[in-house]
Amino acid sequence: MRFSGFRVIKEALSGHKGWTPHWRDPEPKSHYDFVIIGGGGHGLATAYYLAKEFGASKIAVLEKGWIGGGNVGRNTTIIRSNYLLDGNEPFYEFSLKLWENLEQDFNYNAMVSQRGILNLVHTDAQRDAARRRGNAMILNGSDAELLDQDGVRKLYPFLNFDNARFPIKGGLLHRRGGTVRHDAVAWGYARGADIRGVDIIQNCEVTGFRTENGKCLGVETNRGFIGAGKVGVSVAGSSGRVMEKAGVRLPIESHVLQAFVSEGLKPVLPGVITYGAGHFYCSQSDKGGLVFGGDIDGYNSYAQRGNLPVVEDVVEGGVSLIPALGRVRLLRGWGGIMDMSMDGSPIIDKTDIDGLYFNGGWCYGGFKATPAAGWCFAHLLKTDQPHETATAYRFDRFRRGYMIDEKGQGAQPNLH
Ligand SMILES: Cc1cc2nc3c(=O)[nH]c(=O)nc-3n(C[C@H](O)[C@H](O)[C@H](O)COP(=O)(O)OP(=O)(O)OC[C@H]3O[C@@H](n4cnc5c(N)ncnc54)[C@H](O)[C@@H]3O)c2cc1C
Repeated sequence: MRFSGFRVIKEALSGHKGWTPHWRDPEPKSHYDFVIIGGGGHGLATAYYLAKEFGASKIAVLEKGWIGGGNVGRNTTIIRSNYLLDGNEPFYEFSLKLWENLEQDFNYNAMVSQRGILNLVHTDAQRDAARRRGNAMILNGSDAELLDQDGVRKLYPFLNFDNARFPIKGGLLHRRGGTVRHDAVAWGYARGADIRGVDIIQNCEVTGFRTENGKCLGVETNRGFIGAGKVGVSVAGSSGRVMEKAGVRLPIESHVLQAFVSEGLKPVLPGVITYGAGHFYCSQSDKGGLVFGGDIDGYNSYAQRGNLPVVEDVVEGGVSLIPALGRVRLLRGWGGIMDMSMDGSPIIDKTDIDGLYFNGGWCYGGFKATPAAGWCFAHLLKTDQPHETATAYRFDRFRRGYMIDEKGQGAQPNLH
């Protein structure tokens, strides 16, 4: 079934009786060429690109819960390509280019909205750092504009400019950044993968790995053993727990990250803004709610809910930047488990076990990475070689000391 304007009109006129489920609900087979663990954005995108771009077949995605129940349906939907370091920026630029064509590619409305991201600066030193990062972005084919205070005021006149403890001096504007409806990304990839023959198996928890003579032969699940030529692990916040079952210890901690949405308001925020003097960022959803978040909770956890001190901290940052926020009612808050790597950058690599591959360590930023992470992990699974934009995302960088230490990232963002 293809989506089109014509199809929408036809269904509207015929009582919407022609829509069919977007993916099948197959029973697991005894063996696949590729088994992807985790039906989040990354796992589904990996299966999609394996089938579509790399001509692979006999692929299964195993999801312990339901499609979209993990971080892919919990994040604050921001996409961007505004990193400083060489190991990162080409990868995120590749990802943003894939986002720009994604809806046509998988024929699904994911509400990709390039409404712009503005990182505010509050000191001269921050402006220097923003200028440097903007130059690095432009050198890597991304876009960046340094705004002065008047430039920011034109876009966001209601911010706390002069009367604040940290006056706004300007900002780094990345116009191609924006937001994407997150759960539609999971559904679009799931549908696109299913059309290409991928078995998406929900309620199928991987409980162990079967290995022999250093080779992974498949996975144990609550629905029996499933054999595999190659196994790719893409389970985000559960990375430590799942890889432990294969005897692999990761340089990753799991933490809760909370996010919040306010009651619906008339359009007020045209783009995404990030505070430079505290950890607070905000955009407005198409339903009108202000969607915002901040720092991780300060302790390791596998719970998908957080605690009040971070609620207070985030809201405090928000009100100091946008005083009018104090009159808005909070509608909901939620949490997701984040796979925080030690340098704040991800890993897409083979493991020491033959046939077992890993994708994780995405920290605060794995949603925007979804298309490129899927593509690069599929590339690695199919060719056994890293994709050219993901060559830095290897396990051995921690051993060799080649960290990709992007500012404000990792399990201890204050130390980076
Ligand atoms: C509150 C919040 C806000 C965020 N905001 C942003 C943002 O604005 N921009 C951005 O770029 N990133 C953001 N992120 C990060 C981003 O959401 C994640 O990095 C990314 O979604 C992780 O990849 P995923 O989609 O594959 O993860 P998930 O959707 O979590 O997928 C992993 C899946 O693995 C499954 N699984 C786990 N264990 C097993 C098992 N044993 N067997 C089978 N399946 C298993 C889980 O059930 C889950 O569905 C945010 C995260 C949170 C929590």
